[in-house]
Amino acid sequence: MHYLDNSATTRVLPEAADAALRVMRETFGNPSSQHALGIRAAGVLRDARAQVAQALGTQPTEIVFTSGGTESINTAIFGACRKNIHKGKHIITTAIEHSATLNSVKKLESEGFTVTYLQPNAAGQIALADLEAALCDDTILMTCMLVNNEVGTLLPVADMGRALKKRCPHALFHVDAVQGLFRVPLTPTKWNCDLMSVSGHKIGAPKGIGALYKKQGVNIPPLVYGGGQESGFRPGTEPLPSIAAFAEACCVRTLTQREDSAHIAALSAYLKEQIADNVPFAVQNGVNDVPHVVNYSFEGCKSEVLLRVLEMDEVYVSAGSACARGHESHVLGAMGLPKSRIDTALRISFAPFNTAEDVDALIAAVHKGATRLRR
Ligand code: PLP
Repeated sequence: MHYLDNSATTRVLPEAADAALRVMRETFGNPSSQHALGIRAAGVLRDARAQVAQALGTQPTEIVFTSGGTESINTAIFGACRKNIHKGKHIITTAIEHSATLNSVKKLESEGFTVTYLQPNAAGQIALADLEAALCDDTILMTCMLVNNEVGTLLPVADMGRALKKRCPHALFHVDAVQGLFRVPLTPTKWNCDLMSVSGHKIGAPKGIGALYKKQGVNIPPLVYGGGQESGFRPGTEPLPSIAAFAEACCVRTLTQREDSAHIAALSAYLKEQIADNVPFAVQNGVNDVPHVVNYSFEGCKSEVLLRVLEMDEVYVSAGSACARGHESHVLGAMGLPKSRIDTALRISFAPFNTAEDVDALIAAVHKGATRLRR
């Protein structure tokens, strides 16, 4: 099997699965219970929070566990807007965000907020000057991604945060770092970031666990109401097995981060070299600032069909974002690419376990498929 769809989700690390199982079997108490089993569970929760905080470059008290990237993003966006509604009703985001962001701000638009969607250039880049031009007295939130999940462009979040705070000191800055965790250094304090979202299943933890960084002193209302868990900000009994697995995945990735990055960069370079040498009908989409997400259009091969053909050789890639299944890519559309390029685009995304054999299998399968499809 050649799994090259790691931006959609990753295989669970054995260490993470073991950590979850250990908690399910041995530390199954409720962290809020006052007996010994509850106290042990609370200890697991405390250690996990410290581990995740370290991975995010934050303090443990600034970490809120959530069900994943989507919930973290919703919590940040709705919370920031509800908190600041008396200060203004203008939100800035980009046209290349994940649907968790786009559909959240669309909902707020229907409630009377105004939204500016910064447009990318043909390479998928967002210009700082466009953000500066959009900022106004009414701006209360800027929300954008760190790494684009379809083409792998890096957004200038440090410059954006600086510009936002200079012009609108009262506005909050949320960064969707879901595709950046352990692939790009996360330095939310240097970015003037108030809120940052991450997801476990992109780094080898199970699906359904994530975190929201909420800077000390940033007080926004919660999305759900209930008991006192997560300081009352995200109530509900904590999913300790998933939290422990997320922390364990962070621990493994922290230890191997340097070699993982070098390995993925080498694989990505090898892929580009192989495509340049062997696939003349392929065109890369976007500038691709990060090596782990690469996007190519294969002229004459409809993505949905090529995807199925590759699958026959157990090569798994994706036709854009997994969450936008069946829809034309809004990211490639915003970049102004012609329909023929959008309809033939495939995303290839790497994780540390990938090898050069996976790339070789992909190139061989593309060749085989294209011979049939381009006739
Ligand atoms: N943001 C980005 C950039 C993503 O790529 C994803 C998932 O693909 C999400 C948010 C949503 O994360 P989750 O699947 O954990 O809800």
